[in-house]
Amino acid sequence: MASFSHEPGFCPQCGTILPMLGSEGDVRCYNCKQTFGPEVFSGLECHYVIHFNSPNVYGGSKQKADSADGCVVERMCPNCKNDKMSYATLQLRSADEGQTVFYTCTKCKFKETENS
Ligand SMILES: [Zn+2]
Ligand SMILES: [Zn+2]
Repeated sequence: MASFSHEPGFCPQCGTILPMLGSEGDVRCYNCKQTFGPEVFSGLECHYVIHFNSPNVYGGSKQKADSADGCVVERMCPNCKNDKMSYATLQLRSADEGQTVFYTCTKCKFKETENS
């Protein structure tokens, strides 16, 4: 590993933000062309940066306070039509690029990312 510390969602090789997982469950860094498994996203929890600004998070703050993981929103999974997805946001390193929101279906684990 290079001198970059490994943060979930970032390339362990060069530190670039990674695109969403491909259909085969892996992800390829745009910068260094390395391919990584889904484990590079592991540890991506809600304690990263939480924003309720996304217009797609219904009502802004419909967070289940009593839910075990605390970051589930009512959002329909495009894959299995489940209506709950957990999410985490990552602030990109350069401020003018906004942030990426990662949604994961609580049922089928389908992943979706959204740039704001
Ligand atoms: Zn890279
Ligand atoms: Zn699903």
